[in-house]
Amino acid sequence: MKVFEEIERKDHEQVVFISDKKVGLRAVIAIHNTSLGPALGGARMWTYASDDEALRDVLRLSRGMTYKAAVAGLNLGGGKAVIIGDPQKDKTEALFRTFGRFINGLAGRYITAEDVGTTEREMEWGRMETKYVTGTSRALGGSGAPSPVTGYGVYVGMKACAHEVFGSDSLRGKKIAIQGAGKVGSFLGEHLMKEGAKLFITDIYEDKAKQVAKKLRATYVKPNKIIDLAVDIFAPCALGGGLNDETIPKLRCKIVAGGANNQLLDEKKHIAQLVERGILWAPDYAINAGGLINVANELEGYRQERALKQAEGIYHTLRQIFAVAQQEKVTTSQAANRLAEERIATISRIKQIYVGRSEFRGRLGEISPKSR
Ligand code: NAD
Repeated sequence: MKVFEEIERKDHEQVVFISDKKVGLRAVIAIHNTSLGPALGGARMWTYASDDEALRDVLRLSRGMTYKAAVAGLNLGGGKAVIIGDPQKDKTEALFRTFGRFINGLAGRYITAEDVGTTEREMEWGRMETKYVTGTSRALGGSGAPSPVTGYGVYVGMKACAHEVFGSDSLRGKKIAIQGAGKVGSFLGEHLMKEGAKLFITDIYEDKAKQVAKKLRATYVKPNKIIDLAVDIFAPCALGGGLNDETIPKLRCKIVAGGANNQLLDEKKHIAQLVERGILWAPDYAINAGGLINVANELEGYRQERALKQAEGIYHTLRQIFAVAQQEKVTTSQAANRLAEERIATISRIKQIYVGRSEFRGRLGEISPKSR
């Protein structure tokens, strides 16, 4: 791989390769853009097949974080870390403390959090070496599990979708299919149940799905039956890539709005297929930003009420995305990207003006005593 070309392709600011043979640490930290603030993003631990694969993943994920933070209105940039290793076998205190020391060396340009393959425990190990760690437990003053806030954000985002398609925010009586009875699916389901939606739920683990279904007064559906269920809203809350050539033609809904990351297997191709089928898609990184909003709150002293309140903003963000999509005749995915890019450009401009002015003031300060 041509490393510098790869880094320059999507305008990454900084990529840091770190290694410590003694503790078995090999990781890459990518800082995509810090125009809005320090780059915040999780540390993913994965058995990457090659160094190239790890680098590509961290570059892609860190850029995604820039867009997610920007559209959520947070003063954060986009960053991510990948640790090359097996999360089942290779997680040690020494490794994560060393990782924490490297993060500390970046002096706050990158702030880490948990991600696939890492948990609260590893964040706490990292926290022993640096303050630039979020996602530690509530007991230690951290924000704890992000899924309640993510679930709530998806719920309010779904209301914005309902407003767009049905002319009302109300989800009462709406048929909603939830794919994935995990953390986000369950929290989302609770809000929907309280509002009186008619729920259908599935999971690859039948027992788990049936248990959650009982709690939510939902109908259990087999995993292969959820896609072509005739419903108002389909909520992907499982893994990425669920919207693809095979599944999109089967959908029988008006809205797709859920918490899963990277729902479209191929962003351009599959958003086009959804548009053609007249289905409104809530851009995933906009509707599932509750998790990021939750950890961002930790930086200011965590309070869940405040995080939930901020997550309510997801409703307005989605309304804005739909308005831009309609006015500019673009897809909801393009509209979300545009809003993120515009916010970054605007804030960068303001910062430049501000920096320019303070330099000017500095120069005036030097001149004025002599001229007096
Ligand atoms: P989770 O592991 O608790 O839940 C996911 C569930 O989906 C699991 O129960 C799993 O068995 C099930 N599943 C996997 N493949 C499936 C399939 N093909 N059909 C049906 N069920 C399937 O994870 P989570 O934290 O609830 O996250 C769900 C999604 O939301 C992920 O894509 C995650 O990246 C995204 N997300 C989560 C958060 C958060 O705060 N947890 C924040 C932002 C985005």
